Amino acid sequence: SVAQGRRHARYVSRVRTKATSARSSLGNFAAVRQGFIDSVGNTPLIRLNKVSQATGCEIYGKAEFLNPGGSVKDRAALYIIKDAEERGLLRPGGVIVEGTAGNTGIGLALVANAKGYKTVIVIPDTQSQEKKDMLRIAGATLIEVPAVPYKNLNNYVKYSGRLAESIAKTHPGGAIWGNQFDNTANRKAHYETTGPEIWAQTGGKVDGFVCAIGTGGTLAGVGQYLKEKNPAVRIGMADPMGAAMYSYYATGVLQSSGSSISEGIGQGRVTANLQGWGVPTREGGSVDFWCQVSDEEALPLIYDLLKEEGLCMGGSTGINIGGAVKLAQELGPGHTIVTVLCDLGTRYQGKIFNVDFLKSKGLPYPQWMEAGYLNPR
Ligand code: PMP
Repeated sequence: SVAQGRRHARYVSRVRTKATSARSSLGNFAAVRQGFIDSVGNTPLIRLNKVSQATGCEIYGKAEFLNPGGSVKDRAALYIIKDAEERGLLRPGGVIVEGTAGNTGIGLALVANAKGYKTVIVIPDTQSQEKKDMLRIAGATLIEVPAVPYKNLNNYVKYSGRLAESIAKTHPGGAIWGNQFDNTANRKAHYETTGPEIWAQTGGKVDGFVCAIGTGGTLAGVGQYLKEKNPAVRIGMADPMGAAMYSYYATGVLQSSGSSISEGIGQGRVTANLQGWGVPTREGGSVDFWCQVSDEEALPLIYDLLKEEGLCMGGSTGINIGGAVKLAQELGPGHTIVTVLCDLGTRYQGKIFNVDFLKSKGLPYPQWMEAGYLNPR
């Protein structure tokens, strides 16, 4: 209607006035991010109050769930695509193929949308429905494959590598394989962004950094940067119970036993992202603390964080916080430790916030969850 049109015109002129004054007072819209890609990174550090109080340390979580694609993997996705562009491997309409537990795929699909590429994502069928749904919403072509070990030719990583090769042969825009495990553009993202951010945000007063290994990109990239700034910073690795990296760090032998419901972490081999820095060497100077965290330890941390501090986190974050607590106990009170809040718990609603699922796995859940589940408010 005419009235609506006038109201709209008034609205637009008001917004324009505001924008003009913002421009004059802020110079160049300092706070505005220019689209998805410009919004990756620069996440806050959040003090984790309960575990800080319990350990007498200052434990902070790097809020990677606030990246625009919702996880720590947005950083790696952006660097992998930028790297391929710089090498001249991607042309408009080109395809990015990747094997992923989900988050890297989500990051790649969204960066691809912002830059005019397509994505084909290969995912083990055991990963959460919420991540698969998000990949489809983002427009990725999703291929679900049975979850089989890396040594199997049909493992999702190897499958995605072969698929990339065959698409590249025929697709006019070209195709690349993200190859996040062995593509060190992943580690570089954390060396150039996450690490420097943590250093700046703590004013260099960081005594320890700890996280789990999926590809190893976060651990090696952040660890290497912080150690270069201050060799005394302790870099810790938290392994979900049963994964092979703990045994590798402790004994030099990759041996897995047991299992975890956490997703996106729990590596069975020394990836290229870990080689050269992320595994302990005789000379030292690399990762210098390692521990295992069970689901029984990690889940209560997640539930308390939601119920008492309002932060709803995914399972790998529980492993990370468990590792931060163990490093805090090792260092003693008065230290500052940073870990990673990888993604939101809503990405695993049907699993770690589902009483039936937890019961079926024989895992602990708080009484309030059952009450909330049966009697939704
Ligand atoms: N947590 C979640 C939820 C993830 O998806 C990933 C990535 N696979 C990680 C942690 C581990 O990060 P990175 O690959 O850098 O080791």
